[in-house]
Amino acid sequence: MSISVRRLHPTQPAYSLTADVQNFLQCGLQYRYARTSRLPWSDSPQLWFGRFVCDCLQVAEQQVRHGLQPQPPWDPDRISQLCSMVTTRLQAEQIVCRSRSRQQAGLQCVTVAINELGPLLFPLIDAAQVPVSGSRWFPTIASTAATEDHQPSHFVLTGTVPALLRVTAMDRTAAACPLRQELLSHRIELAEGQTILVDFKSAHRPDLHRGSRHAATAGSDADQWRALVLSWLLAQQTALPAAAVVVYLHELSPSAAALRRLRQAQQVRTAHVLLPHPDSPDAALLHEFRDGHKPPQLSRNFRLQRAFRVIPVTPAALQTALQTADHAAQRIQTCRNQEAHSGRILSAWERNSHSPAACNACRARTWCPDFRGR
Ligand code: SF4
Repeated sequence: MSISVRRLHPTQPAYSLTADVQNFLQCGLQYRYARTSRLPWSDSPQLWFGRFVCDCLQVAEQQVRHGLQPQPPWDPDRISQLCSMVTTRLQAEQIVCRSRSRQQAGLQCVTVAINELGPLLFPLIDAAQVPVSGSRWFPTIASTAATEDHQPSHFVLTGTVPALLRVTAMDRTAAACPLRQELLSHRIELAEGQTILVDFKSAHRPDLHRGSRHAATAGSDADQWRALVLSWLLAQQTALPAAAVVVYLHELSPSAAALRRLRQAQQVRTAHVLLPHPDSPDAALLHEFRDGHKPPQLSRNFRLQRAFRVIPVTPAALQTALQTADHAAQRIQTCRNQEAHSGRILSAWERNSHSPAACNACRARTWCPDFRGR
């Protein structure tokens, strides 16, 4: 008697939105070394700054939500204790900052974020660090190595929603909240029970740094793409958020270089840059700002306006964002298969050397054929 053998089913690959898809879109080869060979990502101060600022804000929100700390504003000692704790955690992951000026900028950014954004946002947060996931079909790409290899038909995409706001709380506590005003300016009317997805970025608003590493990811706007994919993943578990909001934390304490670029944009009235009203005190402060002078203190309302970027969640925008994620997952799979076939890493993985800053900070630059800085 012969016994039939059950057919082996290919296992579904799982991709993290941040660790896999987003990093692959920045550079496939760098992703390969960091993710599979566990080479540290980079030793850039920007990596430290981003993790430090976002982690400090996240820990502060957690402590307030669990009643371990009062609602902000906090005094410098309390903030300094929090920063020391986060610095120690990052050191354990070998993420350190050797630049004293960068450390000071990080501390300044965290202080303003906790004391100005915290009182506004913390009471509205319904849930934070929400794990989300969803299953996606691989798009069919003809005549690739991946299709020849009988790759699985779909994959699991995972992510973490940094914060979720619920509308009822917003109505009760913040009728005049700048965030609510920003939503209304995009004609987003909130109904009872709807949610707002919030993503935090330690950077300036991208209208000031077009052509940077951010812009090189996922086409022209990585932040919008990421927020939309997170919205879809959230919808697989609860409901689609009414909107996504990306909060650019560095806009709360802008650097002198960012203010210079803002002044320049104001002088030529650059269309895509969010500028103060021409007759406002902020416009006058920017106009009078001279190189080498102390940077002006722009109004809290204008800084918050630049910090909050509302992204409407529409079916068309979701579809475009998901297509980018699907194709990136397919390309990762293709590169993996090519490496398995050829036994070569350098020729199997895509490389993206469009951002000199990213290449300069890359740990694989010493042997990468595309590194131009030698
Ligand atoms: S040096 Fe540039 S192109 Fe080469 S792996 Fe690093 S980021 Fe990619």
